[in-house]
Amino acid sequence: MSPKSSAQLPSLFTIATLGSHSALQILKGAKDEGFHTLAVVTPLNERLYASFAFVDEVIVIPKYSDFPKLEKELNKRKVILVPHGSFVAYLSMDEHKKMTTPYFGNKAVLDWEADRMRQRVWLTRAGLKMPRHFTKASEIDRPVIVKLYGALGGKGYLFVKNPEDFTARASHLVEQRYIMQEYVLGVPVYIHYFYSPLTGKLEIMSMDRRYESNVDSLGRIPLADQEGWDISPSYVVIGNQPISLRESLLAEAFNMGEAVVRVSRELCGERGLFGAFCLETIVTPDSEFFLMEISARIVAGTNLFIDGSPYSYLNYDEPMSTGRRIAREIRNALLSNSLDLVLDQSSRTTFSRSAAPNGDAVAVPGPGVPAN
Ligand code: AMP
Ligand code: AMP
Repeated sequence: MSPKSSAQLPSLFTIATLGSHSALQILKGAKDEGFHTLAVVTPLNERLYASFAFVDEVIVIPKYSDFPKLEKELNKRKVILVPHGSFVAYLSMDEHKKMTTPYFGNKAVLDWEADRMRQRVWLTRAGLKMPRHFTKASEIDRPVIVKLYGALGGKGYLFVKNPEDFTARASHLVEQRYIMQEYVLGVPVYIHYFYSPLTGKLEIMSMDRRYESNVDSLGRIPLADQEGWDISPSYVVIGNQPISLRESLLAEAFNMGEAVVRVSRELCGERGLFGAFCLETIVTPDSEFFLMEISARIVAGTNLFIDGSPYSYLNYDEPMSTGRRIAREIRNALLSNSLDLVLDQSSRTTFSRSAAPNGDAVAVPGPGVPAN
């Protein structure tokens, strides 16, 4: 596993992220690893984020989509961005990619992740099973789920029984990008991984199942009472529940993660996928994993495990959230003078040369004090 580091960071770096999604976990983890922390928030969130002792600094912007305008200011400092779901949900892909602020992860993966058909190529090439895909409504021969593109947390998804049902309920979607997938009946299991580009090792960090409205409530009303009531299931994520996987399924979960990383190097450039990612699966009664999707970054289900999970406890004798694991990787990269291995290639890393380990104590400035 990655070395536990008691060494001091060479000079003070700031880990920054947008104030939402999994920002609290990311910034708490960053603080625990000795970084200065910065939350970029909207006015509504300012007091919340400032109220946490591990948030050193808060910058307020009118709306999340204004974030790229901060680039110049961030680039004057030793700031490293840790992205999460809100980066994809609120920033345009182009702007996001153009930013040169040091960025944990590989942006080349975003093109493969954002396009559901490309995801399919990636996951099937890795040997993973995916639900059957339908391109035309007339082909629908079993219940399907109609899914919109983008990290929308299940918003706008439709359960469709047959072609007639599609015409009645989903034909308005033609203007939008969506896919139709076979509806797989089983237990949704979201597996959170971390792949270290420094050690070349994969870790299972934790797992969750989502709690979705209203689909997770339908079982609370007997079928007889549902009859005559026009209910359609919806899949809007409201929260997450922890899950521990039957241990005999764990090896397959691990192998799936490794396969996805290996194939990413063939598809998304030689550096491939690294850092946090999640395989979103449904496990059938035959114990088969069907892949719904891949998220190529930290997912919000990891928020259940800010204090570590049963799986991270097997690897670490201290609380290790995914957010903290990311900060640990950045820290180990700084200490071994290999920051470029954990940052996207768009990142300006001119500061990395001056950041060679020298064992100096870290001076932590007060809130609002620039790090350099
Ligand atoms: P938010 O900052 O809550 O608007 O979330 C940004 C993106 O992440 C949206 O696409 C959400 O649907 C997704 N998301 C937020 N929280 C969760 C969660 N607890 N589980 C799964 N997805 C989430
Ligand atoms: P996704 O945006 O792909 O993570 O899906 C959000 C939710 O929709 C999942 O948590 C499931 O409840 C449901 N879902 C997505 N794809 C499928 C599928 N192929 N079969 C059954 N349920 C699905």
